[in-house]
Amino acid sequence: MHYNLKFVCIQNETYRYLGYDPERTQNWDSVDLLFNQLCQELSSKFIPFGYIKTYDLNVQDQAMTIETPMPWQLESQDLKKHFEDCQKVSLIALTLGTEFDDFLAESLQQDAYTKAVMADAMGSAAAEEAANQLSAIVKELAEAQGFNITSRYSPGYGDLPLDKNQNILQSLKDDEPKIKTLESFLLSPRKSITALIGWHQEKDRAWVSANCTSNCQICTFYNCPYRKTKNLKDVN
Ligand code: SF4
Repeated sequence: MHYNLKFVCIQNETYRYLGYDPERTQNWDSVDLLFNQLCQELSSKFIPFGYIKTYDLNVQDQAMTIETPMPWQLESQDLKKHFEDCQKVSLIALTLGTEFDDFLAESLQQDAYTKAVMADAMGSAAAEEAANQLSAIVKELAEAQGFNITSRYSPGYGDLPLDKNQNILQSLKDDEPKIKTLESFLLSPRKSITALIGWHQEKDRAWVSANCTSNCQICTFYNCPYRKTKNLKDVN
């Protein structure tokens, strides 16, 4: 199934991609003005497309198998930890489309370099936000069946190789995703993301997903199975 998502302009994330520093960047007003002008243009022109398919997940000692019609394996130890206790997995993909790449190329051809650089950063931030929108849909689907979800995990994170992009897209092929992999296994169009999201029924883990600040030193969930350091009170 495919989903029409929203192109959302996120100023702080865009500026983070651009490396702007409020204390050192000059002409801040003109940067804001360009962001606002481009936001109107991009959000009315582009619709991110998202795709979701959910399969059973079989976790064994050495590998995990995704039970697609042509089952495939994930050998990643990092992902194995992430998917501990998961019984299902959603494969997701999304893209801003080739039209967005064309928009960037045309801006460069017209020597509108500043516009191209800003639009590129806005596209990266919008793709991440579209992934959040798609994750929220997966969450609803999972909750309707009594499951909670893990955070998403993409090829290229940890020890999960980029070539898994190809497996994910292959498993979504009935929905004809407008995304392909290049020889390097990077995605085309450029503003595209694939990821896996685990489904589990573990209550502690659900609490962590909803509330974790990653600041174990002050966190009062004393029995958290994912605690990395002791609470400061316990140390002193
Ligand atoms: S103990 Fe650490 S990992 Fe667990 S919920 Fe608290 S902050 Fe997150």
